[in-house]
Order: sequence, then structure tokens, then C-alpha cells
Amino acid sequence: MNDVLIIGTVALDTIETPFGKVEKVLGGSATYASFAASFFAKPALVSVIGRDFPKDCMELMKSRGIDVEGVKIDDKTFHWEGFYEYDMNEAKTRKTELNALEHFKPEVPEKYKGIKYVFLANIDPEHQLSVLRQMNNPEFVVLDTMNFWIDNKKEELIEAIKNADVLLLNDGEARQLFSTANLVKASNEALGLGPKAVIIKKGEHGALLFTKNKHFSAPGYPLENIKDPTGCGDSFGGAFIGYLAKTKDLNEQNFRRAIVYGSVVASHNAEDFGLNRLKNLAMSDIEKRYREFQDIREF
Ligand code: AMP
Repeated sequence: MNDVLIIGTVALDTIETPFGKVEKVLGGSATYASFAASFFAKPALVSVIGRDFPKDCMELMKSRGIDVEGVKIDDKTFHWEGFYEYDMNEAKTRKTELNALEHFKPEVPEKYKGIKYVFLANIDPEHQLSVLRQMNNPEFVVLDTMNFWIDNKKEELIEAIKNADVLLLNDGEARQLFSTANLVKASNEALGLGPKAVIIKKGEHGALLFTKNKHFSAPGYPLENIKDPTGCGDSFGGAFIGYLAKTKDLNEQNFRRAIVYGSVVASHNAEDFGLNRLKNLAMSDIEKRYREFQDIREF
């Protein structure tokens, strides 16, 4: 039985970083999120791909136990082209070709509708809302987004945020969405819309958790070998919700553990291009780095 529903993009990405370039490799917010979640839970995917989508990519997803019954096939696969300069915290977009995403109408298969943990990964907020409306009473909804949707569909995005329990954003997006330079102010604005918690991802510098009364800061892992940060935010979100779905405990303390697991998987993801690192990652690697995180935080 699947225990996390993920909607987001399945993409072919062209990525350039100071350490190399790859063309049309497997990517997308839902892909990274479901790979990361699959270390802890059984993800089910709602998305769309094109007829050009390579068979081996689909096989790779299935090999991680990801249920792809909710992935439609239509037209051409979504293509994102981006690059990073030496500050790898900020992805710069060269091209966004929505392709099949443009006319996509997400349909949640009947057997997924009772899933209690839902991750609305980065995709058109109208699709995020449509999926939420099709679900039967989800217990816990996490929403992620990016500047493209803040620029193009802000109203729909605000509506989707009102329906989420946790809002995930990176620091630049939080400043942009709430028109303030101050992250505490941005978080308070976000909490005012409805979510019980806001998590602000700060790239290599870790993540901040804001709730009404509390604040937690998870450190970044001091990675020596960063090749490609694409998908770190999505892997963070996937591991975060996957761990919560596995432990079925939504207490503040367990949230903190889930944030550290999210940071661990995201830090591994940056070690190689595309999904190359996640596809070879073992649970023992995750547990080892989790213990190192505990050590970093002790004082
Ligand atoms: P991140 O975790 O923020 O690095 O997300 C990277 C992934 O987001 C890439 O694999 C892209 O395919 C995907 N992506 C890029 N632009 C968009 C967009 N506008 N909507 C949804 N996904 C996107």
C-alpha cells in the first residue's frame, strides 16, 4: 500500500555547473522527491511525461518501488535547462519548455485517493490544487514551489498554500513571495495564510523551521564535493515527508528529525549530476551522515 502521494514534474533536464554539463537527463521535482521518499516510504506519483521519455528512466523509477500508475503519457516531456555559477545556492533558468505540462489535467487514480501524506512538489499550483481536491481527507500536506510560479501564478499559489500544513520554500523565494527581505517576517506572513509550519531551505547553509511558537535551525552539511545541486530542494522535501509517513508522528521533535533526514539526502544528492548519486545511495549512507549531523549540532 502506497503511503505518500507526490505530484510534481518528471523532466528531462539540461544542467551546467562549474563542474560539467549534462543534457536531457532524468530530473523533475516529482522524480527527485519520489526517489528521496522511497528510502523511507512507498511513494505514488501523479505527473505527465512525453512519448520521448526514455524507457530506462521509467525502469529506474520502478526499480525504486515508485508507483507510476498516475503518470500520464502525452506529447513531449517537460524540459528544463539551467545553470549554476560558483554560488551554487541559486539555479538560473535558461529555458523552461512546459510541453506536456501545458495541457496536463492531473487525475488521481482511485487507489491513491485515501493516501494520508501528500507532497505537492514544485509544479503549476493549479495542478497542486486539483490533486488536493481529488484526495479524500489527507492528514498531512506539504507544498513546495519556485520563482517561476511566483512570477506566473501567484494568486493560485496563495490559494494552494492556504490548503497546506507545511510550506517549503528557499530563502530567495520566501523573500520574493512575501515582498520582504526578512525571513522571520516572511515566515509569519506564510503562517498567517494557514500552514502550521514553514521550512525555509538555505541551500548549503541548512534549513530553518518556523511554527507559531518555535524556531529550529538545521545545519548544512560541510560537503567538500558538490557537483550539481539540482533537485536538492525536492530531495529534501521527499525525504522529509517520507520519514514522517514512515514514523507516523507529527510532533515537533519528529519534525526536526525529518528535517535532518531531508538535509542528509539533499546533501548526498549534490555530490553528482542528476540522479546519479541518489540511484546508488544506500540507507547505511543516510544513517551514517545522520549521525554526523547529530555530532555537528552538539555543543
Ligand atoms: P530544485 O530542487 O529546486 O533544484 O528542483 C530542480 C528540478 O525542478 C529540476 O529537475 C527541474 O526539472 C524542475 N523544474 C524546473 N523548473 C520547474 C518548474 N517551473 N516547475 C516545476 N519543476 C521545475
